[in-house]
Amino acid sequence: MERRELFGSLASAFKPKQELFIRPPYAHNSAAFEQECLECDGKCATVCEEQIIQIGDDKTPRLFFSESGCTYCDACAIACEYGVLHVDWKRPIAATFEIDVSACISWHNVMCFSCKDPCLDDATVFDGVFRPEIDMSKCTSCGFCVRVCPTNAIKVEVNEHE
Ligand code: SF4
Ligand code: SF4
Ligand code: SF4
Repeated sequence: MERRELFGSLASAFKPKQELFIRPPYAHNSAAFEQECLECDGKCATVCEEQIIQIGDDKTPRLFFSESGCTYCDACAIACEYGVLHVDWKRPIAATFEIDVSACISWHNVMCFSCKDPCLDDATVFDGVFRPEIDMSKCTSCGFCVRVCPTNAIKVEVNEHE
């Protein structure tokens, strides 16, 4: 391998990984956020009734489930005038949910159904009355279970964008 090629491949190996955000569930091209949102005044965040969209310093929207979840109401997509979000591109939120068994009190023999009640998709599956797990084949990634957990045991991981 030539020296230049070697340094090129080393540089790309050490390139910092771009931070991923949970985006509103109506985009089909993740690059459009960085390209188009700069011109916008964050309309999607203004119209979100659940107030889960925050606009970052880079002017792009991201979802936070600390106070509420997504109802897939379409409002953010309808409000977007820059072609980043569109109702035709509706899709599940690109995030995976998992219960941290070391933090979940139900895994330590304390009865708790806090994450079961808000889950309209029946995705929090209990082994009898204890040890819940999230069934990602049913989970719609709405995020409504996150806030209600008394020990903050529901972990959210952003999936890679296309
Ligand atoms: S679909 Fe509705 S609830 Fe979900 S982020 Fe968009 S505006 Fe908010
Ligand atoms: S409304 Fe559209 S263009 Fe504006 S910040 Fe939201 S996604 Fe970006
Ligand atoms: S994120 Fe998944 S497990 Fe949590 S309430 Fe929504 S559908 Fe249920």
